[in-house]
Amino acid sequence: MQSIIEINHLSYRYERDTVLENINMSIPDGSFLAIVGPNGSGKSTLLKLILGLLKPQKGEILLFGQNINKFKDWQKIGYVSQKANSFNSGFPATVFEVVASGLTKRLGLFTFFKKEHAKKVNEALDAVGMKRFSGRNIGELSGGQQQRVFIARALVSEPSLLILDEPTVGVDAENVQSFYQMLGELNKNRDITLLLVTHDIGTISDRVTHVACLNKHLHFHGETAEFEQLNADGLSKVYGHDVHLLTHHHEHGGVSK
Ligand code: ADP
Repeated sequence: MQSIIEINHLSYRYERDTVLENINMSIPDGSFLAIVGPNGSGKSTLLKLILGLLKPQKGEILLFGQNINKFKDWQKIGYVSQKANSFNSGFPATVFEVVASGLTKRLGLFTFFKKEHAKKVNEALDAVGMKRFSGRNIGELSGGQQQRVFIARALVSEPSLLILDEPTVGVDAENVQSFYQMLGELNKNRDITLLLVTHDIGTISDRVTHVACLNKHLHFHGETAEFEQLNADGLSKVYGHDVHLLTHHHEHGGVSK
């Protein structure tokens, strides 16, 4: 299977502090990967490196088989940042307009908006289960609904890889499973490789195919079933304190400090 992202001997430091050390990972085409780790473990830094926003002092990153320094096909990569869903209720844009604004990446800002573009917007809204909210003001929606709209905005440029930074932060606890289900469907039905970052290992569900545990070093990277078999000792090593793994089979638990 081809690797969408390949990372070799990657290290990164801000001034004196090394936050990522000798990271090696290969993310296969079609996978749905959750990168987990405690706060400050380097997750956002790793995303910024993959998005080309930071340059590593050591090591290399290949995107779609090409060195990131030469990579130009950024349209293939969709990104939804952590703060995307914190719109305030006064923001004067409809859900449709927010998603349509994602097309400017492909079309340029002042391109004439055609019927086929409206179709793409509607398809993207359908894919995240938000079509019936098309005419609503973005600010009226819940955090989880806004997050879905921002994912639709990333989908209109038809990415092969979608990167999400802490997507479940604004999602109500009772909606997290259906949120993951929607992501799982994007992964399977639309053939989009998904990479998400979360500090909460409790949000991992069966929908994720792979898990990576990061805390400066990459402590684990493998299939979800293997991750669930990691014993408490293995996880505590990653987190630096006791951890009880929470999957949807368990009602209580999560990371304890
Ligand atoms: P995470 O996303 O896992 O919470 P980050 O990648 O944001 O972790 O941060 C990793 C470490 O790097 C933290 O100790 C953080 O304080 C530090 N850090 C992050 N951004 C900067 C920066 N711009 N300058 C200096 N240190 C930073």
